[in-house]
Amino acid sequence: MSATIVVYVEVDSAGVIETAQETLTLARGLAAEHGGAALHAVVVGPVDDESTVEKQLGSLGVVELHRAEGEDLAAYAGSTHAAAVVEVVQTTGAEVVIAGGSPRGTEIAAHVAVRTDAVMAANVVTVDSAEPLTVSRQVMGGAALEEMRLSTQPAVLTIAGHVCEVAPAPEPTVPQVNRFEPAFTDADLRTRVVRTEEVESDHTAALTGARVVVGGGRGVGSADGFNDLLELSDLLGGAIGVSRVVTSLGWRPHHEQVGQTGSRISPDLYIACGISGAIQHWAGCQSAKTILAINNDADAPMVTKAHYAVVGDLHEIVPAINDEIRRRTVGA
Ligand code: FAD
Repeated sequence: MSATIVVYVEVDSAGVIETAQETLTLARGLAAEHGGAALHAVVVGPVDDESTVEKQLGSLGVVELHRAEGEDLAAYAGSTHAAAVVEVVQTTGAEVVIAGGSPRGTEIAAHVAVRTDAVMAANVVTVDSAEPLTVSRQVMGGAALEEMRLSTQPAVLTIAGHVCEVAPAPEPTVPQVNRFEPAFTDADLRTRVVRTEEVESDHTAALTGARVVVGGGRGVGSADGFNDLLELSDLLGGAIGVSRVVTSLGWRPHHEQVGQTGSRISPDLYIACGISGAIQHWAGCQSAKTILAINNDADAPMVTKAHYAVVGDLHEIVPAINDEIRRRTVGA
């Protein structure tokens, strides 16, 4: 039996989520180096459009899809999803289990590692060698890289977001679908999602697809300090993106966060106001075609890396930009 690599795949109403596609792309590379290992995917719980997911997985080189089904899987619970993955690991004898570095992927990978007595490497950025399995992973919030050799079978990895571009397999497959009902205990259901709420916002609906994003960081100073940025975003028909500090302080909602643990954006223009440009934020905005930094520190990384910068107080500069846009719009 050839070696097997199992990937836990998250899906939403649009199909396989981007982080999972990145993870599958990286896993396919590892499978090729791992003596041509077979790439298996596990999808747990209800899926809106099965055929789209199967096609997406086939285009990424998955040969077998394990579909965990059952009434108790309708609501997400880390334990039940992990139980499903462990069952697949046991039936396939998988050598490596991989999940995306999303909150769910990380939770499930940790459960799987504990249940299978495996060594786990979180936030992997590259697989340096397939045998022995050696990876580089982000530590200290991405400020340093650690090389790690994993000697257990299975070995469990999570892949840091956006470290790999999604790429289709050279030869697409038609995955064989194995449906099963995983066994779990009442304890597995103790912590589960009981309610979800739709996000209501005028300014963030299209953050990842916006052509202009106005970003705000700690330098904005307060929740009210965002009023000028919101106006600028409206004037330019853009969206608001923020740093993690801003969401941690409760000034703006988490879904507006840009960066390693937020959204990755690639607008035509990113106006970063009062954002220092920490590596974790840069990871999410570096694909912007043009970056304009507004910062009172000429040495801030965002200023030194941006295409253009205005050095000064954002509370003077942003209102001045708004006035000028309004003047030109009215004058037009
Ligand atoms: P600061 O670093 O405090 O920078 C504030 C900036 O505002 C400074 O450059 C200052 O000069 C400027 N400023 C202050 N006042 C003014 C003014 N009046 N006018 C103009 N400029 C002014 N961060 C993210 O953003 N996204 C992530 O996804 C993310 N993920 C992370 C994951 C991990 C595991 C860890 C450990 C950290 C993560 N972070 C993330 C946090 C990141 O390391 C930084 O702490 C954060 O990005 C800093 O936010 P900031 O730039 O708003 O604040």
